[in-house]
Amino acid sequence: MSLFKRSRFTALFVLLFVIQLSAQKLPNIVILATGGTIAGAAETNVQAGYSSGQVGVDILIKAVPELKKIAKIKGEQVSNIGSQEMNDKVWLKLAKRINELAKKDDVDGIVVTHGTDTMEETAYFLNLVVKTKKPVVLTGSMRPSTALSADGPLNIFNAVAVACDINAWDRGVLVVANDKILGARDFIKTSSTDVETFKSPGFGWIGTVHYGVARYYRKPFTKYTYQTEFSVDRIKKLPKVAIIYMYSNNNGELIEDAVEDGYEGIVVAGVGNGNMTKAAEKALAKAAKKGIVCVRASRVPTGYIDRNVEINDDKLGFVASYQLNPQRARVLLKVALLKTKDTKTIQKYFAEY
Ligand code: GLU
Repeated sequence: MSLFKRSRFTALFVLLFVIQLSAQKLPNIVILATGGTIAGAAETNVQAGYSSGQVGVDILIKAVPELKKIAKIKGEQVSNIGSQEMNDKVWLKLAKRINELAKKDDVDGIVVTHGTDTMEETAYFLNLVVKTKKPVVLTGSMRPSTALSADGPLNIFNAVAVACDINAWDRGVLVVANDKILGARDFIKTSSTDVETFKSPGFGWIGTVHYGVARYYRKPFTKYTYQTEFSVDRIKKLPKVAIIYMYSNNNGELIEDAVEDGYEGIVVAGVGNGNMTKAAEKALAKAAKKGIVCVRASRVPTGYIDRNVEINDDKLGFVASYQLNPQRARVLLKVALLKTKDTKTIQKYFAEY
C-alpha cells in the first residue's frame, strides 16, 4: 500500500473511531410515557376537540429525530391516559420505576411525559418520594401531537436536553415546558389553553431552556427527593385524602360526607387565608376530633396560609398549608399519613416540604 493510501486509510479509521467514541459518550435517557395531550390526537390539525393518550412512546420519540443527536433514548409506556385520570396506582408504579432506573449506572436522566392538567400533583409527589440527584424531568404539551404548531416535540427535545445536563443534577424534580424549567413544588397551571400555561408566581423559574441550551437561576427552596424522609418503595396503597372547595353558604355537609366515606385526611380549599363558614369550621373540627387530619389551604393562588389567623388551629386541631395550594397539600398529606397522624409532625412537614 502506498504511503498516500495508507495515510488516507489511517485518517478514515481515526474518523470512524472518533464518531463511535462521541456516539458512545451520549447520555442515556429513559422516557417514561404516561399519556396526556402530548400523546393526544385529533381528526384535523385546527380543532379544539381531541383525545388524550392516543400515541405510544415509540411514536413520540420518532417524532423528534433530533433527540438522537443529544442522547441515547429508551422509551417505556407506564400508562396512556389523560392526566385527569392520573391515580395512586400509576403514581406508585412511576415512582418505583424511577427509583429503579436512577440506581443504574447506565441511566443518566429520566423524562416523564404527562398531561398538563395534573402535572402539579405528579411532579410534587415524585419530588417527595424519588431518591436521586439525577435529573427527573416532566414534560407535556398544550396542543395534541396532530395540531398546527404542536408544542410537544420541542418540549420533549428540551426536557431530554435538561435530563442530559450535569447542571440539572440535584435540583429536585423539574418540569420543562415552553422554554421554562420549573420546580416541582412551585409552579401552577394558569391557563386551560395557552402554551405558556405553567408559571411560578412568587418563586420564579428554576431556569430556562432554549433549543436545548439550559440556563439555571436557582435551586428549590425546600427539601426534595433524596433529602426527604418519605419512601413508597414498599407501599402498595396511599391513604385517601379529599379536597373540599369552600364557597359562600357552605353548610359543612360535604365535610361530613368525607368523614362518612372514610377519608383519612381532608384538605379545605378555603377562601382567603384558608377561611370557611362557621358551619364548615364546625364540621371540620368534628372530623379532626375523630382523628382525621384536616388541613386548611386556600383557593387563592398566591400568598401564605398561616396558623391561627382567623381560625384557632391550636384549639381545633387543624394544620395550616403554609405555601402549598390545595392540590399539593393533598399530595403531601397522603404521603405524610404513611408515617404519622400526629398533627404537630404533619405541620412541621408543611414547613419543610
Ligand atoms: N386533559 C389533558 C391531560 O392532562 C389535557 C392537558 C394536557 O395534557 O395538556 O392529559
